[in-house]
Amino acid sequence: MTKRILVTGGAGFIGSHLCEKLLNYGNDVVCLDNFFTGSKDNIRHLLSNDHFELIRHDITQEYSAEVDEIYNLACPASPPHYQYDAIKTIKTSVIGVTNMLELAMQSNATILQASTSEIYGDPIVHPQVESYWGNVNPIGLRSCYDEGKRCAETLMMDYHRQNNVDIRIVRIFNTYGPNMDIGDGRVVSNFIVQALRNEDITIYGDGSQTRSFCFVSDLIDGLIRMMNNKQKFIGPVNLGNPSERTILDLAKLIINLTNSNSKIVYKPLPSDDPTQRKPDITLAEKELGWIPKVGIEEGLKQTIEYFAAKINCLP
Ligand code: NAD
Ligand code: UDP
Repeated sequence: MTKRILVTGGAGFIGSHLCEKLLNYGNDVVCLDNFFTGSKDNIRHLLSNDHFELIRHDITQEYSAEVDEIYNLACPASPPHYQYDAIKTIKTSVIGVTNMLELAMQSNATILQASTSEIYGDPIVHPQVESYWGNVNPIGLRSCYDEGKRCAETLMMDYHRQNNVDIRIVRIFNTYGPNMDIGDGRVVSNFIVQALRNEDITIYGDGSQTRSFCFVSDLIDGLIRMMNNKQKFIGPVNLGNPSERTILDLAKLIINLTNSNSKIVYKPLPSDDPTQRKPDITLAEKELGWIPKVGIEEGLKQTIEYFAAKINCLP
């Protein structure tokens, strides 16, 4: 039977890939977005598909529909974007997630929440396991996002325990790929665009902080496996690529892959910037049979091609 699937934040980076994949699997997809950071360009090629519906809506407002599944991705994800209107960001994770949980309850749908590695804050346990409760500043510039996402997990668990809502919680670690916005502000898109334009590569701090980067196709596979898992495993589960590197190494790799003349320059480190991050994905492998397949060089090449076409700059 064809499923009717709601993807909130469906015009964003990850959401647009998810909509496309779910359509390819023969589902009906409703993409809901307020276009704060998302773009019609990401989903333009889907608009002529009869099984695809686009709705401009903000999840902080109630929404009603008959759906079988909800992937709740709506939330700005890059630090400059989520700090632009911090109050709106936390409302999106608290009021918005409550609205989506009410919708799941009314339509008896399964709901998957796009949580984040940020719920671990600046982690003391390394690599991060799901049982770790994190080290989060509740009053800093990143708190609107981190604490919002933590509260969203709490709401998910409480609707599950109190109202029997069928939930899935996924903690996404730094993901990159085509359809990221040029002005998104996250490290992979910034470095690639700077390198392609032969502009200075801006490293915040001394570049010794680490991240582990997952290519978007691997993440989409993990999200869909989590939604469809037969054991009704609710998570939380980490999804990310455990291959960890420093930001300085990432800059050098991108300069090499783009044959760029860019120079590295150092800028102040933003407050509460986590010093290290790497997912332990043992649980995802055990419960979902999921491990990422795309290595960093392959993933970056595809992303560089995307940005090169977008900004009309040959690598
Ligand atoms: P993105 O900014 O490209 O996409 C977010 C989408 O949500 C955009 O289309 C935006 O317009 C929409 N949106 C924002 N607020 C909304 C609201 N109130 N109502 C309706 N739509 C709204 O970011 P992304 O990287 O695609 O992230 C998608 C989700 O995954 C987010 O929830 C993010 O927190 C989570 N996540 C992403 C990463 C990553 O590395 N990309 C890591 C951890 C978690
Ligand atoms: N970063 C950087 N230069 C940039 C953008 C980001 O050095 O132009 C750093 C940032 O300070 C952080 C890391 O890269 O240490 C990852 O940043 P991003 O915003 O992509 O994600 P997050 O900090 O949320 O993991």
